[in-house]
Amino acid sequence: MDVVDLDPTDWDEFRNLSHAALDSMIDHLQTIRERPVWRQAPDEVRNRFRNPIPRESRDFREVLTDFNSFVRPYVTGNTHPLFMGWVHGAGTPVGMIAEMLAAGLNANCGGRNHIAIDVERQATLWVAEALGLPADCSGLFVTGSSMANFIGLLVARTRALGVDVRRSGMLATGRRLVAYASCEAHQCIGQAMELAGLGSDNLRLIATDSSRALRADLLAAAIDADISAGCTPFLVVGTAGTVNTGSIDPLDAIATIARERNLWFHVDGAIGAAAMLAPDLQPLMKGIERADSVALDFHKWMHVPYDAGFVIVRDSRAHLRTFASDAAYLSRAETGLAAGEVWPCDLGPDLSRGFRALKTWFAFETFGADRIGACVAQNCVAARYLADRLDAGGLFELRAPVALNIVCFGARSENSDSLNRRIVEALHVGGHAAPSLTLLDGRPVIRAAIVNHRTTTADIDDFIGALDKIITADAAA
Ligand SMILES: *Cc1c(COP(=O)(O)O)cnc(C)c1O
Repeated sequence: MDVVDLDPTDWDEFRNLSHAALDSMIDHLQTIRERPVWRQAPDEVRNRFRNPIPRESRDFREVLTDFNSFVRPYVTGNTHPLFMGWVHGAGTPVGMIAEMLAAGLNANCGGRNHIAIDVERQATLWVAEALGLPADCSGLFVTGSSMANFIGLLVARTRALGVDVRRSGMLATGRRLVAYASCEAHQCIGQAMELAGLGSDNLRLIATDSSRALRADLLAAAIDADISAGCTPFLVVGTAGTVNTGSIDPLDAIATIARERNLWFHVDGAIGAAAMLAPDLQPLMKGIERADSVALDFHKWMHVPYDAGFVIVRDSRAHLRTFASDAAYLSRAETGLAAGEVWPCDLGPDLSRGFRALKTWFAFETFGADRIGACVAQNCVAARYLADRLDAGGLFELRAPVALNIVCFGARSENSDSLNRRIVEALHVGGHAAPSLTLLDGRPVIRAAIVNHRTTTADIDDFIGALDKIITADAAA
């Protein structure tokens, strides 16, 4: 049989094709405003992705052409300045190159003695510094804050019950662990309770005040009632920027309540941790520096390309005790490639892991934390501007206070529930803009999460123009 490998047969040709591919992606980003935010993939395109496994080799050039024709035009659209749906990061051209360089190195960051591990440690130091946590925290890149919150919860559980619970399981402890978060907390907190085997019924969802922030008085009362009832409260999750409206829980008050009762204080900073890079916004997050652990997303408001979630834990030993094991094939050497005391695989469930730290390192080295923070602050100004214009305009009304960068609003109309839905769908289908729809108090509202560093107030004007046009056309129909 012939000897085979997967390298190019003609490296010069490969080099030319690759340079052209890179140029074309740079063009794509440079001209992002010239295209619709989103386009539905036609059926004939979708059907191309229901094929049997290809058995034969194809020219790389042809596959690149397929990518340009059938993949590139039909993606989510979150690189576009008028994409405001959910909470999506926009990425950056620098991030694109960093991702490519990381793929070239193809480092496995589960462990071992190589520089990628140091780059990840560098990111941990930066996160600790930005959040006001001590430098000896442990940190780990994960897919996203869903996983980061789950890891925080697992460390809190191990801390509450001791390391034996890893082997014996919950039942042997005879304890009922209960956790607390606001009713505006992300659904991944409830899911983390489910995944941990603790049950989402044991997550108490505490009511919020008129700004949709957790009510600290109700939290304290709920914990005390559970203690009296013989439960074991172990964890409070404060949210720094809720997914629905961007509201911020009173982190400092929560930290005090948690400390008084010896509970783990975890912060879901998926959105709001980025605000720590903006001096004007920092005071809103007061108390985050008292957290035992924080989940955050570099891929949202810090625009590191997907995916780049992160968890930081104050007590690095508790973190280690939750995950470390002593598999023979992972044993450590004194020197050489197998050296190093703590490997990333000791801090989470993943063994093989990509080099997410590199694209994060590139972002901070290239832009500097201040510039990333300035983009965050700029989004908040744009959100305020949008809110003020909607308020003044007469066709729409705000449906929640604007704490950061998320504006929830709806049509001023008798039948605004169905109208709000129609407006969002029309904006998507027309490719004009992409806000999303959410439910507030059970009613559909339009939600514009202004996350993109490219979004300007002129874009907000365009957005309002598109909204006005659609609502007027709808009324005429
Ligand atoms: C997005 C988000 C999450 C989930 O993070 P992923 O990175 O999507 O896993 C959790 N909490 C909040 C507040 C979020 O906005």
